[in-house]
Amino acid sequence: MDAPARLITLHGLPATLAASCRIPPECRTHVEAVVRLRAVAFARLLVPLTLAWIPLDVLALGPARALPALVLRLALAGGLLALSCQAARLPRFTAMWLLVALQAVGFGLLQWRVPPHDDALRIGYGLFPYLMAAQLALFPLPWWRNLLAAVAAAGQFALLLALEGAPADALLWNRVWLFGLIVAVGAWTGQAQLRLLVRLLAARRDAAHDPLTGLANRRHATAHLQAACADADRRGEPLSVLMLDLDHFKRVNDQHGHAGGDCVLVALAQVLRRELRASDLAARHGGEEFLAVLPACDGTDALATAERIRLAVAAMHVPVPDGEARATLSVGLATRDTGEAPEALIARADAALYRAKAQGRNRCVVG
Ligand code: GH3
Ligand code: MG
Ligand code: MG
Repeated sequence: MDAPARLITLHGLPATLAASCRIPPECRTHVEAVVRLRAVAFARLLVPLTLAWIPLDVLALGPARALPALVLRLALAGGLLALSCQAARLPRFTAMWLLVALQAVGFGLLQWRVPPHDDALRIGYGLFPYLMAAQLALFPLPWWRNLLAAVAAAGQFALLLALEGAPADALLWNRVWLFGLIVAVGAWTGQAQLRLLVRLLAARRDAAHDPLTGLANRRHATAHLQAACADADRRGEPLSVLMLDLDHFKRVNDQHGHAGGDCVLVALAQVLRRELRASDLAARHGGEEFLAVLPACDGTDALATAERIRLAVAAMHVPVPDGEARATLSVGLATRDTGEAPEALIARADAALYRAKAQGRNRCVVG
């Protein structure tokens, strides 16, 4: 069970602060994808909202004064639309920064071109900085990154106050206080989202992997095989699976203890990682039984791979607490017939594995 969430203590504050400043490297790609997705979603939401204000500009300003606003709104909507279409090609957090920059420039020019003295306008236009501050809550980022993005919102706010010529009265401080509060809550919410996302990703990784060997577990391998079969059908490519089982593993445990047996399982996992391609998947299917899914691999290549793994295992000298352990491996392999169900493919590899055992072990048999 994961440790429950705890309040930060004074003692743990420096470590918590340091951890809150960074995105764990293993989560970076996922966090970047979520930030990109949210930037696109918000840009798409802003496009119709920006355009919907055009008739209101005409009503509030009259047709002549509304013209520059119209041009700016069209340009801003176009920029946001282009951003939402191109975001997938933009690296890292660029989409978010562009979203912030487009709004800062677009809203800034709108405020500048359309005098904010009009009460009717002030109600709507005065919301721009708050809108920019509030959207920080969308992005699961370290607090300092969201505060950096808030600089643009603060610039907006300062511009609005300058254009209004707002006197330094209680109302002004009330607005400054409200703006600061929204920025702080937005940055905090983004940070909290990041923390939850990191925990969620860790839980998802744990749920898909075997803690001893670090390989995929059976549940993940089953889902992966299903997807690999669908891919193979779509591409018209072969697909092979290997069922691998350590021979007389009970004897290894008897001789070297359970800890020694565990060392052999870890060593076998290392062999699988080394001998398989990056596109292959190795999984712990059961106790000392492993499964390898080999996409784009025909029977000949699968047999060669299985032989390579078998020989590598037979050559292992695994350091264990009481010395050194040796092991051999039996492999059953099957290459998928077109349209064959994943369960049927596994059953064939399993049957081949049983034959390998029956024929004397330490061998590969084709199913
Ligand atoms: P065969 O050649 O027929 O496969 O014989 P075997 O002894 O390998 O197979 P059997 O299924 O009889 O026994 C498997 C053994 O694997 C029994 C079990 O204690 C051991 N085992 C399963 N999981 C683990 C594990 O996580 N760590 C260790 N050390 N042993 C395990
Ligand atoms: Mg065995
Ligand atoms: Mg077994």
